Amino acid sequence: MPGEILADAACGSDENVQDSAAAGVDLVAPVLGNTPKGDAMTIGAFEVDAKRETVQKCPAGYAPQNSEYNPQTGTTRTVMDPDLCAGCTMQAGCPIKQTCNGARLDHTDKERRLDERCREEKTDEFRERYKKRSGIEATNSGIKRRTGMERVGIRGKKQGRRFGFISAWGNAPGFWISQFNRAESPFHTNQETHFPLDYGPGLQP
Ligand code: SF4
Repeated sequence: MPGEILADAACGSDENVQDSAAAGVDLVAPVLGNTPKGDAMTIGAFEVDAKRETVQKCPAGYAPQNSEYNPQTGTTRTVMDPDLCAGCTMQAGCPIKQTCNGARLDHTDKERRLDERCREEKTDEFRERYKKRSGIEATNSGIKRRTGMERVGIRGKKQGRRFGFISAWGNAPGFWISQFNRAESPFHTNQETHFPLDYGPGLQP
């Protein structure tokens, strides 16, 4: 079992990262779905004890009156001193809500983990780790575009693998020549892709 797997965002769900970690594998993948935009303050701006899932300090550095994690729902409810929040200069961007029960913030452990990963994605360290995968991705999409694998009209893992192998290797000379020369592959005319190989029994384009 490898210690680290580099994958694309489609595999980067929180569930996959958690399952991989439980199996001793560090799944390195961008966060799937919506990520915090711009400088919006999120749970990541709070100091959270990841083991207890409780807030230790708010973005302004104040300790909460209470912060309690419910393992059944995976939710942490944090209560701040409303007087502190009322006089705080960071209040406009802070996700804390003034309610009739005080200044409160509810967040889930999943939100915290995703937020943490989003922040990590913006670091040079993550980019460096993920560089290999980015390189492979460019090669994969080049192969898909040039061999027509995106439009494959067959079903099933076995046939799909066979088709992909034949298409990739059958078109490899054209792919690499065109990469180096920036010229059209000899296997292409206009936008259409022509497969120079016999697909074999049961493999029709
Ligand atoms: S509004 Fe309240 S919770 Fe938010 S930063 Fe200010 S003091 Fe902290």
